[in-house]
Amino acid sequence: MRLAELGQADRDEPARILAVCNSCRYCEGVCAVFPAMELRREFGRGDLDYLANLCHDCGACYQDCQYAPPHEFAVNVPANFARLRAQSYAEYAWPGALAGLFRRNSAAIAAIAVLAMAGFLLGFAAAHDSEALFARDDHFYRLMPHAAMAWLFGLAFAYALLAMAMSLRNFWRGIDGGAVRPIMLSHAVRDAASLHYLDGGGGGCVNSDRPMRGGDSGDHRRLFHHLTFYGFLLCFASTSVATLYHYMLGWEAPYRWFDLPVLLGTAGGLGLVVGTAGLAMAKRWRDPVLRGGTGLGIPFLAMLGLTAASGLLLLALRGTSAMGLLLALHLGLVFALFITLPYGKFVHGFFRLASLVKYAGERH
Ligand code: SF4
Ligand code: SF4
Repeated sequence: MRLAELGQADRDEPARILAVCNSCRYCEGVCAVFPAMELRREFGRGDLDYLANLCHDCGACYQDCQYAPPHEFAVNVPANFARLRAQSYAEYAWPGALAGLFRRNSAAIAAIAVLAMAGFLLGFAAAHDSEALFARDDHFYRLMPHAAMAWLFGLAFAYALLAMAMSLRNFWRGIDGGAVRPIMLSHAVRDAASLHYLDGGGGGCVNSDRPMRGGDSGDHRRLFHHLTFYGFLLCFASTSVATLYHYMLGWEAPYRWFDLPVLLGTAGGLGLVVGTAGLAMAKRWRDPVLRGGTGLGIPFLAMLGLTAASGLLLLALRGTSAMGLLLALHLGLVFALFITLPYGKFVHGFFRLASLVKYAGERH
């Protein structure tokens, strides 16, 4: 079922399943969802959104469940929660008028990326003659001044942060999050940073009934997720260090291979390429009954992976005549990534962290 087809019935089905789980309680040691569920007798919209975003989609409760299909109770927590999570991203999106981007996610993200890359290519072609465009040097700012880059990408990123902060505020209100204490934040950040609840109660994340290697449960999603998440942070750190170099020390790009921005960006880019490819493969190998089929994962992974790959290619070929073309493609992808962050899978990190914060409060 696509996200566009979700309706009220999709809250009725998870609520029915949780009523079964609340009587059964076999999975209460598997993850945070079940202890949180046991604090409730009824499951309204906020409860369901909270529990769905607390779920890390490890799949263990489906594998453990004696009431999974073909049993008539047809309990499938991971797939129902995946659809509910995707629905919650759209319902709490800011501004609400752009929530439709979640429902046509692949087409919207692909169109924005193509338009952004075309925009940079046409802009470069209009502002420079072909000799400058294909010159063999690595000075990016010859093609686009640093101030123009800083303003354009600074504004795009500031918009993304504002939109995600407003979505998070809507979500927090929707799940009746309440006051936040420092101890709640520290527990939530620790659990999120280690993906504590992706271990399926110790057995590992279930990717498929076909083990990836060595007969284990295929718990490689944690590794690939870490590579993606920390790769993203390293790329962010690289940009931040380069900005400090430029404005505080007067050291302008291009930087040498062993300079900190290049080292951080290279490590982060490699992490993103390997991590996103691994997560995409894990999705492909995942047992189809565990999939929510929302269509949000692959567009986001593709954008992250392509942006990182284009950055690494630009770094490798920056002294060649391909630099101008690669710079336009990379900047187009980065711009598209920034402005689509609030309308894709990226928001799952904020909603899950908020749910972990609420869970830490309930636990204490
Ligand atoms: S998922 Fe199945 S086994 Fe686990 S608590 Fe729910 S009904 Fe029980
Ligand atoms: S985190 Fe895993 S065990 Fe817990 S509800 Fe989600 S899929 Fe089930």
